[in-house]
Amino acid sequence: MSGLPRPELHKDAKFVFLSDWDGTITDRDSNDLLIDTLGMGPDNRRALNGKVVTGEGNFRDSFSAMLASIKVPFAQCTETLRQNIRLDPGFEEFYYWCKAHGVPVIIVSSGMAPNIRAVLSHLMGEEEAAQIEIIANDVRFTDPEGKGDEWEIVWRHPESGFGHDKSQSIIPYRELAQRPTIFFAGDGVSDLSAARHADLLFTKVAPGVDSDLLKYCKREGIPHVRFATFKEILEDVKKVVEGQATTQEIIAEAEKAEAKN
Ligand SMILES: [Mg+2]
Repeated sequence: MSGLPRPELHKDAKFVFLSDWDGTITDRDSNDLLIDTLGMGPDNRRALNGKVVTGEGNFRDSFSAMLASIKVPFAQCTETLRQNIRLDPGFEEFYYWCKAHGVPVIIVSSGMAPNIRAVLSHLMGEEEAAQIEIIANDVRFTDPEGKGDEWEIVWRHPESGFGHDKSQSIIPYRELAQRPTIFFAGDGVSDLSAARHADLLFTKVAPGVDSDLLKYCKREGIPHVRFATFKEILEDVKKVVEGQATTQEIIAEAEKAEAKN
């Protein structure tokens, strides 16, 4: 199994910001939405997710089964997402600040790139969306006409139980001779493999949502900074990029705040 080509690195960047898409940049998980409304439904989805958490199954195979239960054309999936998915209220300001200050923002997702691009072009405009870097899985149209009436996911790392092993987007940055400061933001199971490799890890904790990433970080003792929206992330990233605080100081501050709770 071959997978998708390796993305180019930003070799001269002093800082890079990698982020999960679903539930981190977006207000809700787009794959869950598709599976729950157009596929096997929430009960079956949760049952499969449970098996991933206990180690009975892996993410790649469960997600494949969930996607296979969606029997509608790919274009209908894309349209459903465009109608229902919104961005984190602080994301656009954060993104444009990073762009203006030379900090690459890279979306690292276990979803499919065309779906992400479709939502971004709907919410941020086609021109901007075309420029945003996305490292994700892809889609292949399998109906005889190639119109997308039938389709399947194309894994970035088919040999990995994650399907897309996000650590492989971060580790090459750690290995650069002039290595940048690495930020990562995430919320879920698909982010676990990346969590340990960032210099500053942000875990999203939305009201009423149980964050698997946060639970994992606490259990494993991985330093992290909680956030509710990208407005908070922007404050911390600004401090580091402008030299007002180190990543260690940001983490220490977050740990102090957490100890008080
Ligand atoms: Mg997520």
